[in-house]
Amino acid sequence: MNTYQRIQQRAKELENETARFLGDLVSTPSFSSKEEAVIRVIRREMEKVGFDEIRIDGLGSIIGRVGNGPRVIAFDGHIDTVYAGDLSQWSSDPFKPKIAEGKIWGRGTVDQKGGMASMVYAAKLIKELGLNEQFTIYFTGTVMEEDCDGLCWLYLLREEKLKPEFVVITEPTNLNLYRGHRGRMEIRVEVKGRSCHGSAPERGDNAIYKIARVALEVEKLNTRLRNDAFLGKGTVTVTEVRSSSPSLCAVADGAGLHLDRRLTFGETKESALAEVRDAAARAGYPDAKVFVLNYAEPAYTGKVYPMEKYYPTWVLPENSPYLQDATTAYSAVIGKAPLVDKWTFSTNAIAIAGMHGIPCLGLGPGNEIYAHAPNEACPLEHLSGATAFYAALVARMNGK
Ligand SMILES: [Zn+2]
Repeated sequence: MNTYQRIQQRAKELENETARFLGDLVSTPSFSSKEEAVIRVIRREMEKVGFDEIRIDGLGSIIGRVGNGPRVIAFDGHIDTVYAGDLSQWSSDPFKPKIAEGKIWGRGTVDQKGGMASMVYAAKLIKELGLNEQFTIYFTGTVMEEDCDGLCWLYLLREEKLKPEFVVITEPTNLNLYRGHRGRMEIRVEVKGRSCHGSAPERGDNAIYKIARVALEVEKLNTRLRNDAFLGKGTVTVTEVRSSSPSLCAVADGAGLHLDRRLTFGETKESALAEVRDAAARAGYPDAKVFVLNYAEPAYTGKVYPMEKYYPTWVLPENSPYLQDATTAYSAVIGKAPLVDKWTFSTNAIAIAGMHGIPCLGLGPGNEIYAHAPNEACPLEHLSGATAFYAALVARMNGK
């Protein structure tokens, strides 16, 4: 039996244990900024499978290390989840995981505690089968991703000085290989008016009429945005309108729009802001304020690490040697050539690849269409498939 056959066999043997660990993660709710309890569950499991070092950073993310080779790589899984939403839409308790129809059901099984479970058992395989000599491998269980993707990794890169040459994102890919996604940003547009008594609106200058004209220009802007053959089209949409006035019997003295902007390949913060300023000018208001919002919520540790809500686009080139290794490892343990595609949503790679230029690629158990949805469920065979792939990738990168 060759190395890859042994990896495949052991990953399958460990599938029930991996699912049991995933069940422990699901039954420990961990909404963004409330991850402390699940971090303890992960630490216990990392200790059990024999990680070489385990530590918790200032934001509360857990960092498990295997190996101490000269080259550094990382596997990342965020361990916060969104809330369950309307419980009447779930067929069973989202925090009491169950196994049925070859799947494990519950909030976070797909997005993305399944990836975390597979990562930890891949580490076990890497040690047990002696697959690694060349690398220091970090397995990060990161916080606050659902609220502000990438923030946890900006902290790891800048404050914890983690400097991997390559990172595998374990968000759900339906067990395919993903090499990019669109970026995004949150933009605010504000215009001023002049208030007066609502009984004589001609005396004032109504900010709501102004912002309405800007909103209609944003709608037109969306149709002009560029397309990319791999990532698809950039988009912009208005997600909220707010106004202020001294009373409901007064002309509005201020109004603003919140914009959700998705950035395709080649679009940047500067280009996106310039387009919105242009849209405001087309509406007749070149003096409108256009700016990017900030995220500054405390982690469960109490630390506030502010970040601009700009999440840049990233793509791993098709000819990347990491993608070649991943393709070889994938075929060896999954038994077919991988489908190489992209995520629809955004991940921590916006910070790792988008801001810091570190190559990333993704593979994770579960289908992203079940992320943030009721009756979230992950196939058990995806768990062992992901475990086998992660271990096989390390073996391949070690020349095995
Ligand atoms: Zn996710």
